[in-house]
Amino acid sequence: MSRFAYLKGRIIPMEEAKISVATHAFLYGTACFEGIRGYWVPEKDDILIFRMKEHYERLLNSCRILRITPMLSLEELCRLTCRVVAKNGDKEDVYIRPVFYKSTEAIGVKLTGLDDDFLLFAVPMGEYLDLSKGLRAKVSSWRHLEDNAIPMRAKINGCYVNAALAKSEALEDGYDEAIFLSSDGHVCEGSAENIFIVRRGTLITPPVHADILEGITRDTVIHLAQDLGLPVVERLIDRSELYVADEVFFVGTGAQFSPVTEIDHRQVGSGEIGPISKELQKYYFDVVRGRVDKYSSWCTPVKEYAD
Ligand code: PMP
Repeated sequence: MSRFAYLKGRIIPMEEAKISVATHAFLYGTACFEGIRGYWVPEKDDILIFRMKEHYERLLNSCRILRITPMLSLEELCRLTCRVVAKNGDKEDVYIRPVFYKSTEAIGVKLTGLDDDFLLFAVPMGEYLDLSKGLRAKVSSWRHLEDNAIPMRAKINGCYVNAALAKSEALEDGYDEAIFLSSDGHVCEGSAENIFIVRRGTLITPPVHADILEGITRDTVIHLAQDLGLPVVERLIDRSELYVADEVFFVGTGAQFSPVTEIDHRQVGSGEIGPISKELQKYYFDVVRGRVDKYSSWCTPVKEYAD
């Protein structure tokens, strides 16, 4: 089956979508991206793209931080995404990767006076983390990036070296995922997920000024928790609160809703996936697959929108 990508203003076969070795973004990580999920819904014979508009709003904000001038509007980005996904013709869940990048082919580390460009591709993707059981996580020995180093608010390609260091350490040490602490020792997030803990029925998650990515799944879960009457508090979380929480879960586009049942060799709660995690996880999957009318505006049908 042929797969397509958008590069240098054209939709072209994936195997032809190549950029130069001298591209600034490759040399210095000067690009920003999104990860967006499309869910295959057999009854509709279509893919529903989840919260596409919010992802592109965040991408355009990342561009501001990175001094990238977008050459496509929010509306154009959404349509283009649907066109590429429709052309691929996948009949399974997909992951969409749009990137704005510094396209000049030159040595010299800076952000200004360089050309900008946009590319996009989509690939089939099932679970990113194993959702059939609770995850084992490790507090990373790597500190998290902070706003005045490389801002996590922007989804900048170069940031992900920090994530890759932590994730690899966790995997090599026999865990499934890493939990970052900030330089002042508070809980930030996973390598590519936001984190929630549950204490006495209240959901707690670090605030957006705690050096985290302002996650769209985080926002989704806050809405869903409110629907279920669960209180949500955004505040700093101590490392030791991870060890005494009743439940812990990661949320993110890739990770979706992933309960954590062990952290640093300590069982989370009973060591089983907790009741609040189960309820929210089920609700989350109903929402992303377009089964909840209230949130149907979050799910863009590809075929309809691509035309
Ligand atoms: N934090 C980081 C560092 C991430 O890479 C991601 C994945 N995009 C998230 C949190 C979750 O964000 P979202 O729910 O918007 O995918």
